[in-house]
Amino acid sequence: MKNERSLVFFLIFCILLITSCSQKMESTSFTAMNTYMTVKTYGKNAKSAAAANKLVKQEVERLEKIFSTTIEDSEVYRINNSVPDNNGFSTISVMPETTYLIEKSLELYKLTNGAFNPALYPVIKEWGFTTGDYKIPSKEKISQLLEFSDFSKIEISEKLMSTPPLDSILKADHDKALSSTASIITKPIGMQLDFGAIGKGFAGDRAIAVLREAGAKSALLDFGGNIQVLGTKPDGSDWTVGIKNPWGGQPVAAVKLRDSCMITSGGYERFFTGEDGKKYIHIFDSKTGRPVKNDLESVTIICREGIYGDALSTSLFVMGLDKAIDFWQQRGRDFNFVIITKDKSLVYTAALEKSISLLFDFDSVQIVK
Ligand code: AMP
Ligand code: MG
Repeated sequence: MKNERSLVFFLIFCILLITSCSQKMESTSFTAMNTYMTVKTYGKNAKSAAAANKLVKQEVERLEKIFSTTIEDSEVYRINNSVPDNNGFSTISVMPETTYLIEKSLELYKLTNGAFNPALYPVIKEWGFTTGDYKIPSKEKISQLLEFSDFSKIEISEKLMSTPPLDSILKADHDKALSSTASIITKPIGMQLDFGAIGKGFAGDRAIAVLREAGAKSALLDFGGNIQVLGTKPDGSDWTVGIKNPWGGQPVAAVKLRDSCMITSGGYERFFTGEDGKKYIHIFDSKTGRPVKNDLESVTIICREGIYGDALSTSLFVMGLDKAIDFWQQRGRDFNFVIITKDKSLVYTAALEKSISLLFDFDSVQIVK
């Protein structure tokens, strides 16, 4: 009897081993949204995995053509360069994807009390972050441009077809996003948008949806530090993903993930040193119109939706440590974060205790509950 049972277990083990080994991994890399992107998909055979990767590339390139601030016939470019009427408002018809991103952004703008603000583009441009021609603008110029940054003044004035009600931001269903409708928006004179803090997360969610539709069960996307995974590894175990060392070198921590995303915003990603010798980073405080100055190096969000993880990593960076913890508690702890501070402290949420391994000698480690 005992021998029979051992034999059954052995056979199951062999079947599992064979099915996991029969999965072929295909890796595809490309550059889109100013980012080097890699998709690794496991499939029944190399051909099906490669076909799925190709669909992802096409989808990301399609979205880039809609959301780019610089491609001249992109929808965002059209919004940003629209001509206002005599009352100072312009009216633009936009695609479902843009409608969806504006709706989500309005929710996040309110939720984060303006820490997340996609209407900072005129300010960010003035600092030279769009061209690399960096400068510190005058106080007058900054206040003048901040006048255009009240994102709540954008309005979706008309839906062009009936649309399913949008779920709460936490339960965003990206198949619905596709069936979201075209709409007409109105925006005040001077307002210009930049979805740089949310677009890659949305593209990742779309990529996961595309992979699912193509029948993939197991995939990992690396969109320049935005990691999103579909399912588990083919053997059923979690993916292990590293958190970048802000000071260079090997990752400072590894986190186990399945069906989720891990998205980091770091002050080290893009910055310049001003004539005053100070460091100015690419993440902006919408209250001051200046690059954020606080004691954080990076904020990593772990949650299910890329759009949410991307927006929140930027937002919590803007908030700073104390407000980020408050926000997380007020939101009912419905996502996880890992924050690295300039004084080499690590702060992470309690639910990560089982899935995080530290690989760096931090001066202090705090687990928040
Ligand atoms: P991320 O690297 O995801 O944190 O996004 C940063 C990018 O989003 C910047 O390069 C800007 O284009 C834009 N951005 C900067 N500050 C903000 C902000 N407070 N809210 C929304 N977008 C921002
Ligand atoms: Mg972001």
